[in-house]
Amino acid sequence: MKTKDQLLKQFNLNIPSIDSICRWKSVTIFSDDYGKPLVTEGIKEIIQALREDAKLDPEAAIKSLKKECLIDLLRNWLETLTQPSLKPVINLTGTVLHTNLGRAYLPEVALQAINSVAKGPSNLEFDLESGGRGDRDAHMESILCKLTGAEAATVVNNNAAAVFIVVNTLANRKEVPVSRGELVEIGGSFRLPDIIKRAGGKLVDIGTTNRTHLHDYENSISSKTGIILKVHASNYAIKGFTNDVPAEKIVGIANRENIPVVEDLGSGALTDLSRFGLPKEPTAGNSISAGVDIVTFSGDKLLGGPQAGLIVGKKSLIDKIKKNPIKRVTRLDKMTIAALSSVLQLYLDPEKLQKKLPNLALLTRSKAEISKHVDSLLPKLNNIFKPEFDLEVIDCKSQVGSGALPINSIPSKGIAIKSKNSSSIRQLNKLFRSLRVPVIGRITKDRLILDFRCLEDDEVFLEQLSNFQAK
Ligand SMILES: *Cc1c(COP(=O)(O)O)cnc(C)c1O
Repeated sequence: MKTKDQLLKQFNLNIPSIDSICRWKSVTIFSDDYGKPLVTEGIKEIIQALREDAKLDPEAAIKSLKKECLIDLLRNWLETLTQPSLKPVINLTGTVLHTNLGRAYLPEVALQAINSVAKGPSNLEFDLESGGRGDRDAHMESILCKLTGAEAATVVNNNAAAVFIVVNTLANRKEVPVSRGELVEIGGSFRLPDIIKRAGGKLVDIGTTNRTHLHDYENSISSKTGIILKVHASNYAIKGFTNDVPAEKIVGIANRENIPVVEDLGSGALTDLSRFGLPKEPTAGNSISAGVDIVTFSGDKLLGGPQAGLIVGKKSLIDKIKKNPIKRVTRLDKMTIAALSSVLQLYLDPEKLQKKLPNLALLTRSKAEISKHVDSLLPKLNNIFKPEFDLEVIDCKSQVGSGALPINSIPSKGIAIKSKNSSSIRQLNKLFRSLRVPVIGRITKDRLILDFRCLEDDEVFLEQLSNFQAK
């Protein structure tokens, strides 16, 4: 039995030189693929890490110095570094517009549009008619006006930026009355009071959590008021003894005082979703017809486009917003503009929307159809997972997600995977996440629940799981 010191000595003696490692055949192949400097750096880092390990466990470190171990470590190091960190996953969470999984599913036309402008020059800010300087917004403004009935429109990086720039332009150092029941926090650190404050506005919370009346708005108005802000309660619902003042009533009193009414719709549908059998969600057009001066909403929630913040409303106000330097700070890139305009164009023909907009196709997939899909998958999944795990077809509820229609869930079908012990179900979940195309489900009461509403490609899903079986 050697002492720790003797083993450490042996470890140090066994370390091959960097030069000699570089000459190993498989390492020269790595150098061809990844370049010699990167491979050398990898070797140095791995040896350094092993030196640290050896202080704690010299025996294990000696084993890791074997040629095949070092090559494995190097391959891992190189692959981790050169693999994309952002990659597709399979969303079986049941939440369609999952914020953490990237929200909307872009339609084919949007991908083509991105592709067509990404490679080279475009007329992004170039007016092809006059040959002079153009405006980025021009690619989206007229269609947004057409779809919402607004006089003017501008677009920024996301809806949080939209709210920020609107408050900063119209209510800097002025008061912003908001109903207490509408002071939202949505995921990812968007808290309305913080945004208003940072944008220079002074929040005046009016009414109470469950009830706000027209006279609360009336009493809040003074010479210091910049805008009245109405926020769509997107990720929660206040139920029971409640009162909320509709936008047109607020507009009635605000107009008398010449104060703009701004509505943050959050999800903001562009068309009435009840025609597709989904619950009604307020549209931007509804707010404009109600007389709201400025409406903001997200591009990648119900709308089904890329991440963006859409601002529509009165021309005089939109013009001011466009001139705010923050517009430059939050402007869209050409790929987003290409994708967004192509998605907006789909709305010109609402009849075909359900077919062409994946968001809508997924949200409206019937339980019967998902059920058939699940039945076709079950025997294959049983093959892979039995007898270690028990699979059961279950009724489940999908969510729209991203705060849209928060209290409405959509009947769906899924599979619950059970195991004898809860640690193995957690391990299975982890394994799913480590697949080449990670599969994301959710664990409820020691069962892994997979909601199949959003599974589009059976082949990729099953093919990776069959590898899993072999393990
Ligand atoms: C989602 C949401 C936002 C933020 O929109 P992003 O596009 O995520 O920046 C702001 N307000 C409301 C009410 C929302 O639902």
